[in-house]
Amino acid sequence: MSKLGSGSLVIATHNAGKLKEISALLSPYGMKCISAGSLGLPEPPETGKTFADNALIKARAAAEASGLAALADDSGLSVDALEGRPGVYTADWAERQWFEGDPGRDWYMAMGKVEGLLAQHGPDVDRSAAFHCVLAIAWPDGQHVVYEGTCPGSLTWPPRGEMGFGYDPVFVPTGRDQTFAEIDPAEKHSISHRADAFAKLVADQFGA
Ligand code: IMP
Repeated sequence: MSKLGSGSLVIATHNAGKLKEISALLSPYGMKCISAGSLGLPEPPETGKTFADNALIKARAAAEASGLAALADDSGLSVDALEGRPGVYTADWAERQWFEGDPGRDWYMAMGKVEGLLAQHGPDVDRSAAFHCVLAIAWPDGQHVVYEGTCPGSLTWPPRGEMGFGYDPVFVPTGRDQTFAEIDPAEKHSISHRADAFAKLVADQFGA
């Protein structure tokens, strides 16, 4: 099994926020993170049926194109009563149709869509859900490894809180009363699906 030494690692994202967050997490281990965007690497279509499929598609494409080890993540929300949906389509459910030249994502609409589907199951519907994050590392020789993180919780309605992003205002992590959007970001980052996946990566790759 390949391991990351100290050195360069391509982060297969064009999202500046993700690059910054991942770089901060890995720099203590001597990793120099370079974004796929800055290398001009194309973004492959995310055609996988699971978070792991999509993370691997992105990591493999970046490793092959750059000749360096590459890390990618994929994340989303799975709702038990909706057989795991929106799952890999979590971001797509927020996609507004082209409307007066104003494409973009509407998270309130996406949260409303989830709530509407839950409501079809009646007032006693199981509101359990979980955020998932999969981190995949691929090497140019074809080796790869994946780390899966989860944060279990339940969905509330109406949305509450101003912090965070995406579906945070309707997600209450297990053992808390507040939504992710009401919890201090530093605290959210310590209990999130992303924190869980990174803890597994760091333990396995760096023995930390
Ligand atoms: P991707 O991993 O960049 O493809 O994003 C998947 C989508 O999952 C995001 O656009 C968010 O809607 C959702 N998501 C992932 N993590 C979180 C989170 O911590 N809070 C709220 N929504 C999240």
